[in-house]
Amino acid sequence: MFNSRSLMKWRTLSQVQVSNFSIKQLTILASVMMASVFVFCYLTFRYFWTYDAAVDLAVAQQQEEVRRVKTLLEIQKADLAKSLLDYAAWDEVAEFISGDNDDLLESSINEHSFSAQQVSGIFIFDPNVALVWGKLYDYIYKTELSYDEIRYKFGALLADSLRSRTDQITPFVKFLVLNEQPHLMATSRVCNSDGMDCDKGFMMFIKPVGSEFSRTLKRATGLDVDILTKPDHSPPLKLSGSNTSLIEKLDYQNESTVSVVIHHSVKIPPFITWGELSAVFAFAVFMFVFNLSVVHIMVRPIKRARSALDSLTKGEASQLTEQDTFISYEMRDFVYRINEVFGQLESKQRELEWVALHDALTKVGNRRSLQQYWSALTESTELHYTSLVLIDIDYFKPFNDHYGHIEGDSVLQHVAQTLKNAPTECEKFVSRFGGEEFCIVLSSHLPIDNQQEAEWLRASIEQLNILHQYSSIASHITISAGVADCASNKLDKLQDIFLVADRALYQAKDAGRNTVIIQPY
Ligand code: GH3
Ligand code: MG
Ligand code: MG
Repeated sequence: MFNSRSLMKWRTLSQVQVSNFSIKQLTILASVMMASVFVFCYLTFRYFWTYDAAVDLAVAQQQEEVRRVKTLLEIQKADLAKSLLDYAAWDEVAEFISGDNDDLLESSINEHSFSAQQVSGIFIFDPNVALVWGKLYDYIYKTELSYDEIRYKFGALLADSLRSRTDQITPFVKFLVLNEQPHLMATSRVCNSDGMDCDKGFMMFIKPVGSEFSRTLKRATGLDVDILTKPDHSPPLKLSGSNTSLIEKLDYQNESTVSVVIHHSVKIPPFITWGELSAVFAFAVFMFVFNLSVVHIMVRPIKRARSALDSLTKGEASQLTEQDTFISYEMRDFVYRINEVFGQLESKQRELEWVALHDALTKVGNRRSLQQYWSALTESTELHYTSLVLIDIDYFKPFNDHYGHIEGDSVLQHVAQTLKNAPTECEKFVSRFGGEEFCIVLSSHLPIDNQQEAEWLRASIEQLNILHQYSSIASHITISAGVADCASNKLDKLQDIFLVADRALYQAKDAGRNTVIIQPY
């Protein structure tokens, strides 16, 4: 039974197997299958839709041609019978048999009779089947057969007529093979002119039905017809293809067969022509290639997205290009979404980078960015002058205590931005070192006037004039600054310079605050 467990198992199995293939391989597989199905369907439809009906029609038309030939054969037989009866039901022939009419051979049965009746043999027998007169012109050997030959050979052929009624004239026409050549043979009793008194003797006509007869058939039916003979023990005639038919007639003596081979004018159509087959295969190949190209174009954005993701993980900005999108709206949507996500990720990344290097409250640099900035300065090979300024807000604890932390935070933000915007002649980097302490790096290609720079910083805070009733030295917020002057010396570790600046700041506090102390490093 097909339960849910085996279904799941099958699903997992098929997923594993399918996932082992690349899209390209799967496409090749699908395209080959599609092309094969197309060819199969085409041939099947071709067979049942058009070929079958066309063959049926052709076969019917060929059968009609066979019928036409058979009818013509019957007409030929009837003609021969009629020729024979013209003589057999004639008193003069009966009189010739009984010996009362010697003129017959001269007047009515002569050379002219043979050509007029298109026969090669005429025989007259008496009522006892003894040959009265006979002549067979053998047109193969161009000789006449001797009297004895005729008597023995043809007397036996009268069997049908011997058995026939004597009160009515009845002709018999049959095929006969003589010297391997096809003939028609007609026999009849000889009667008086009213055709009822038929015991006067027998008469026989022999007519060749060889090439001349074939030509007659061709004229009448438009068909090529061969009339052949073969001994009955020889193998059956082999017909060339399905466009010939065979009518077989046993020879009168059942020793040979007369075969009428009809070469049909209507041909059985071929199932498919080479041209058509080539076109079908060419189309199948085209389908295969087209499929492959479409999938290739469809997969391209996925591959690009993959490498764009790689770039993104390496921290490089990446976007998919518009040219990947034309194949379908799904792909356009996919590329649009990918680009959107890339954009979001990039801004998130920038945000994270900013957060990692800035102080959230005051928006100036943090310790980490100070360290980075310092390292960059250290590594720089250009000649420059450097100073490190350490700043601490005076009596900030009492400010916090009295005005509250929220107000304290606001002061920190103001102080940070003011330090950043204070006038300077140097490159200035402001960072919050911790609590209410700020660390500023000054650098310049020219010697730094530390006194002036520090003074600008200090004065800019004082000018903010932020009310601080609980400061012991002023009614507003002030700062103290310690400067470590590195001049143009090679820079050491930040911590070492920092100690010097810290010491200077300590001295500034000692000196009464709201002041600046500079120490050389
Ligand atoms: P001094 O003049 O000697 O520097 O006196 P002071 O009161 O400023 O003493 P100190 O530097 O030790 O005090 C630091 C105070 O700064 C303590 C704390 O209340 C305040 N502070 C540190 N960080 C923050 C902060 O993020 N926000 C606020 N509002 N206050 C802070
Ligand atoms: Mg402090
Ligand atoms: Mg302080």
